[in-house]
Amino acid sequence: MSYPKIVISTGIVKNNVKILVGLCKKYGINVAGVTKGVCANEKIVRSFVEGGVKYLADSRIKNLKRLKPFKLPKIMIRLPMISEIPLVIKYSDISLNSELKTIVALSKEAIKQCKTHKIILMIDVGDLREGIFYKEDLDYIISNIIQLKGIKLVGIGTNLTCFGGVIPEKHTIKKLTDLGKLIENKYNIKLGIISGGNSSSIHLLSVDALKGINNLRLGESLLLGKESAYGKQIKGTSSTGFCLEAEIIEIKYKPSVPIGKIGKNAFGETPTFKDRGIRKRIICGVGRQDVKIESLIPLDHKLIILGGSSDHLVIDGDDSDIDYKVGDIIKFNLGYGGILSSMTSEYVDKAIID
Ligand SMILES: *Cc1c(COP(=O)(O)O)cnc(C)c1O
Repeated sequence: MSYPKIVISTGIVKNNVKILVGLCKKYGINVAGVTKGVCANEKIVRSFVEGGVKYLADSRIKNLKRLKPFKLPKIMIRLPMISEIPLVIKYSDISLNSELKTIVALSKEAIKQCKTHKIILMIDVGDLREGIFYKEDLDYIISNIIQLKGIKLVGIGTNLTCFGGVIPEKHTIKKLTDLGKLIENKYNIKLGIISGGNSSSIHLLSVDALKGINNLRLGESLLLGKESAYGKQIKGTSSTGFCLEAEIIEIKYKPSVPIGKIGKNAFGETPTFKDRGIRKRIICGVGRQDVKIESLIPLDHKLIILGGSSDHLVIDGDDSDIDYKVGDIIKFNLGYGGILSSMTSEYVDKAIID
């Protein structure tokens, strides 16, 4: 086994999934397990399935391909590119959409592949990423969609907190559910899926503000057990299912402020340093090509991460009670960005434990 290495406990992930699926179920909500954060890793996906998710969802064709062995319906959660439509039809059952041109292309391809592809129409209720801007163009797009063959409009959905950072509130969600009712009445159709967002919508469960929503697309909360609007841990879950291990390659005592004129670092940023005098500095063989270093949380709380470059992580180890030696391993828990980056990096070994 080589380093850096990410150790994943599928038992912890499965328990998180069970708790969240149970919590959502109490409010009449089913869960689409979003697998992009772990590159649809088969063993981790299995813990999603065993934990009780109803759908599997991913943003990338390569990941949807990996989901093929699983029986659950698959959702493509990034708006499809016209160039990838044959694969969207082949590897997903449902896709999130907002462009009529794309939906027409999906319809043609679905007919060609003798399939009925399901569509969730995305509504932008304020975050300003994807979706029809609230009611604009809605009539035009829906009246066209319902005439197309090979596809079926099965629901509407929204996405929040991803781009504009808009936190879901009761009135934001109500915009979506009201629109759902309006569409059902006006076009005399049944929308089976009202998808109320991602892990940033979970905090609304406890205040009973997701009335009318029957689906959430959850990634981060299943992996880390945290709702993502405020970062609160959900009762009974754990955020320790992912642990990055890195090896120490240098330990030296050095000044805490670099010597010489300071310009931009390797990433075009001008670093600033606090003068703490001569300190014990530890370098680990892990860097930005392996993991988003801002997302690392050392298990030894007395270590201070000073920064990093492509291949090096520089740590102030002066306050630690542990007498680290070159060759020792330092362990870190990870935030969502850290999981996503290290699961994606081919330089990080993956070790999956139970
Ligand atoms: C990534 C993504 C999700 C999952 O978001 P989390 O915050 O990880 O729960 C849900 N929906 C869409 C459209 C996404 O792109």
